[in-house]
Amino acid sequence: MFDIIRIPAFKDNYIWLLRKGAVAVVVDPGDARPVLDVLEREGLTLASILVTHHHNDHQGGVASLLSHYPAAVFGPATESITALTQPLHGGETIRLTSLGVDFQVIAVPGHTLGHLAYYGSGCLYCGDTLFGAGCGRLFEGTAEQMHDSLTRLAVLPAETAVYCAHEYTEANLRFALAVEPGNRHLRRRVDEVAVTRAKGLATVPFTIALERATNPFLRCSEAEVIVSAQSRAPQARNALEVFTALRQWKNEF
Ligand SMILES: [Zn+2]
Repeated sequence: MFDIIRIPAFKDNYIWLLRKGAVAVVVDPGDARPVLDVLEREGLTLASILVTHHHNDHQGGVASLLSHYPAAVFGPATESITALTQPLHGGETIRLTSLGVDFQVIAVPGHTLGHLAYYGSGCLYCGDTLFGAGCGRLFEGTAEQMHDSLTRLAVLPAETAVYCAHEYTEANLRFALAVEPGNRHLRRRVDEVAVTRAKGLATVPFTIALERATNPFLRCSEAEVIVSAQSRAPQARNALEVFTALRQWKNEF
């Protein structure tokens, strides 16, 4: 197993650094400076970079990191990724020898068309696809693609630790509560997250089990979620139509 260090970046991004011994792998380094600071402080060598999608706040630090360390760069083959050495499509298993672990690469189009998630050792690195109590915006893909992608992530083992790329949970929970005010698991999470954030602590990682219980975008077949969606989109019946209505509602929330 490896240790995981959370590196805050920009306003609300998280860069995840995985370390084993003196070697590190970093996920979605949008900014190099905070990553270099940790590598230098901890005496680590950067072996690999995993990129989930092409947005600059996920890969903007790649070039600078490569000027310090000759790392391999894994990322979506179909997107423009700086210095990509290991182009991926999803469906592969990659071996990170420096960590001694394999990661399954999962195609999760929706936020962007080539978006990938990495799953291994009970951890999921999912970029801007699944957030705490929410999901990414549809910048490139369709609601159907995002719904399918979230469904693929939701069936991962319940205890999976989800490392997403933004601290959005508290705001997402306000929307979730508007959708499903009768969900007691959700109300408990709202209280817990308020305490966590008041202390200045992170709400990430969280588990797939918690998302299944509280994330409205994973609960499109629940009666209360359907009724709420229909208050915005009366024609919404099946899970995809409910998801589409929720995603549109969230954009305006
Ligand atoms: Zn993004």
